[in-house]
Amino acid sequence: MPKEAERGDWRADLRASIRDLPTLCRRLDLDPTQIAAGKRAAASFALCAPHAWMELIEPGNPDDPLLRQILPTTEETRIQATFGPDPVGDRHAEQTPGLLCKYPGRALLLVTGACALHCRYCFRRCFPFATSLNHRDRALSAIRAIAARPDINEVILSGGDPLLLNDHSLDWLLRALDGIGHLKRIRLHSRIPIALPSRVDDNLRALLTGGRLPRVLVVQTNHPHELGEAASAALTRLRADGITLLNQSVLLHGVNASPEILQTLSERLFALGVLPYYLHLLDRVTGSAHFAVPLATCVKVVEQLRARLPGYLMPRVVAEQPGASSKTPLEHVQRQQQERPDQGSRSRARNRLANRRARV
Ligand SMILES: *Cc1c(COP(=O)(O)O)cnc(C)c1O
Ligand code: SF4
Repeated sequence: MPKEAERGDWRADLRASIRDLPTLCRRLDLDPTQIAAGKRAAASFALCAPHAWMELIEPGNPDDPLLRQILPTTEETRIQATFGPDPVGDRHAEQTPGLLCKYPGRALLLVTGACALHCRYCFRRCFPFATSLNHRDRALSAIRAIAARPDINEVILSGGDPLLLNDHSLDWLLRALDGIGHLKRIRLHSRIPIALPSRVDDNLRALLTGGRLPRVLVVQTNHPHELGEAASAALTRLRADGITLLNQSVLLHGVNASPEILQTLSERLFALGVLPYYLHLLDRVTGSAHFAVPLATCVKVVEQLRARLPGYLMPRVVAEQPGASSKTPLEHVQRQQQERPDQGSRSRARNRLANRRARV
């Protein structure tokens, strides 16, 4: 058992995260007018970035791809038609508080609203976590619901970031899931190995490797610069523990919408034992319009990427559409656009309907 002091390390790292614009600008040698500019955006979704992330940003470069992912800007507060608070219909898919069942066989459990890194494009930035949180009784009712559904064979722990749970809660949750006979896999969706690599300590590794069910960890990396020394070491350790590692990315304007960058990302991930899983088109959540890549550009980038990579390093390019029974492949999105150029307004209407349902 590691010593108490050692155990506290990642919590200290989390507490020491940068959480305000003046500190961020000072630390990165940025123009202080940025401070005033992003203040309103930061009031609705706070800035938060651990030092492990900050260290990978190039000082003095306002266009740094890692900075762009976390920097609150005025662009977020503009009115954005076709962008809404629940672009993927999550609220409509809630079975018990925090348990989303959208796709056959899989249930997604939102175990916490907290994240180590606050990504400005996050589709759950508007999710009402206050009502979906992991108080033990909420988790219990989710576990009971899963136990009563033999058709569910995989549980996905998500959030927020499930690896921000303390060891005790995570252990309890994983054991409870290990005890449900009809489950075949536990999947965790987490950005922690990248955003707060010190969390991947011996205790966490023991927790993740101990149980009956195979663990699949899907991390999120959008740019090769995110894979610094600490993150790389964390991933290598997890892989050595026999955990299946996959990566998802979001295609983001000003961050990674280039075949060169995405090629490098896939190759770097492979070298660390991580296979590319999904490349998501942006979910149109309020405040994220400045990250949107036009569909024609997405198609071009993806075509060029496909030509550059062996098939097994090519992520599946998908969008999430409310009401669909799986993620939607890019080719389908493209076809929908060609067949129904008014698709945008239809999905807006559907979103409005879903939002109205969520309120009653
Ligand atoms: C994305 C998602 C899943 C997982 O989908 P896979 O295609 O299996 O990765 C499951 N449930 C919900 C609600 C999701 O949004
Ligand atoms: S880590 Fe994931 S859930 Fe958390 S803010 Fe970033 S994208 Fe959203």
